[in-house]
Amino acid sequence: MPFLGIDIGGTNIDIVLLEDSGEFRHLQSFKTSDKISEISEIIKDCERRYGIERSCVGVAAWIRDGKIVKAPNLPRVPKFDWLMENDANCFAFYTSKKLGFENMLGITVGTGIGSGIVIGGKIYRGRGLASEIGHVVVGSSGRKCVCGGKDHLEAYFGGWAIKKETGKEAKELFKLDESKVYEIKGFKEFCRVIGFAVMLMDFEAVIIGGRIGSRLDIARVKKEVGNYLMPEFNPKIVSINDELAVAKGAAMLAKEG
Ligand SMILES: [Zn+2]
Repeated sequence: MPFLGIDIGGTNIDIVLLEDSGEFRHLQSFKTSDKISEISEIIKDCERRYGIERSCVGVAAWIRDGKIVKAPNLPRVPKFDWLMENDANCFAFYTSKKLGFENMLGITVGTGIGSGIVIGGKIYRGRGLASEIGHVVVGSSGRKCVCGGKDHLEAYFGGWAIKKETGKEAKELFKLDESKVYEIKGFKEFCRVIGFAVMLMDFEAVIIGGRIGSRLDIARVKKEVGNYLMPEFNPKIVSINDELAVAKGAAMLAKEG
């Protein structure tokens, strides 16, 4: 029987099916703001229609003891009966299997900045909230973060912050003049936080995705991250451009149970 993976992000909701053959099938995508209130019905409908064995929801939220603690980038906090996982953890899990890294950090830069740790091929959650690098303090100018904190990385380099700082969607900025993206103060901070994470965990790889993350020039990221690493630390830094990575990770976690 197939498994269902749902990605509820700050901007989009994506649903994929993991077939018995191991192939993924993209079923549906919506704007989060349009469909978040109906999401339970949509999932139930998919489960009926495709004879789903189990579903897992990857959600842009902080999760502890199976409950959502905070979801600063969602228009409302949905309630679920399904297996639930932080969206960046789903991303890290999927990309670790796809690219074959057992010990890695996955980072998504989209509306917000999320990250997930995979150790020995499994998601490392700490007490639930491990790896919230988007909410590490990186500044001192008092910039407000959507989570209620101040000067968090996300407030300098998340999609909403880039728009606030430049007056343009990151997508436009990449199109008009990509160099502007790297002039944003937050880019350096983003790389510095990656450097610290690698020094702490000695990851073999850092995989970057998300609407913004997947478009970053990896050579620039590598060079900048290198400023914060001892030469003995040399993780592979790669990007992956797959808008369905979170939903696919969720479907794989549904299969694991
Ligand atoms: Zn924050």
